[in-house]
Amino acid sequence: MAVERTFSMIKPDATRRNLTGAITKMFEDAGFSVIASKRVWMSRREAEGFYAVHKERPFFGELVESMCSGPTIVQVLQGENAIARNREIMGATNPSDAAEGTIRKAFALSIGENSVHGSDAPETASQEIAYWFSETEIVG
Ligand code: ATP
Ligand code: MG
Repeated sequence: MAVERTFSMIKPDATRRNLTGAITKMFEDAGFSVIASKRVWMSRREAEGFYAVHKERPFFGELVESMCSGPTIVQVLQGENAIARNREIMGATNPSDAAEGTIRKAFALSIGENSVHGSDAPETASQEIAYWFSETEIVG
C-alpha cells in the first residue's frame, strides 16, 4: 500500500445542514490528512464540466442543479490507500444501500443528495484535484 491523494467534496445538501465539521472529522478520524480545502459555490459551467462523464445519464440535470444549489467544500485528502478507503468511508451511492458507520448512512438524504463525493480511481483523483486546485493550494 502507498500514501495516496484523493479528491473529496462535501456537497451542498451537507453544507446547508452544517455538516462540514462532522464529515471532515470522520475523514480525520479515519487517518486522512486534509491537505487542501476551500469553499466554493459552483457555477453551472463548473458543475457540468466536473460531472461531464455523466452528461448522457438521465439524472444529469438534477445532479448539476443540486451541485449549484449552495456551497460545496472541495478538499484533497491524503493517506494510506486513500482512494479506495475514502470510497469505503463514504458508503454506497444510494444511502439505503450504505453500510452502518459510513458517511452516507449517517447523513445522505437520497441517491441524488448524498452529501459527499470521492474520486473512484488514481486517474480521476489526479484530474479532479487539478480541476479545483493549483499546486500552491495543496500543502502536504
Ligand atoms: P460520486 O461520484 O459523487 O462520488 P458515486 O461515484 O457513488 O458518487 P456516480 O455513479 O459517480 O456515484 O454518480 C455521481 C453522482 O450522481 C452521485 O453521487 C449522485 O449524487 C448522482 N446520482 C447517481 N445516480 C443517481 C440517480 N439514479 N438519481 C439521482 N442522482 C444520481
Ligand atoms: Mg462517481
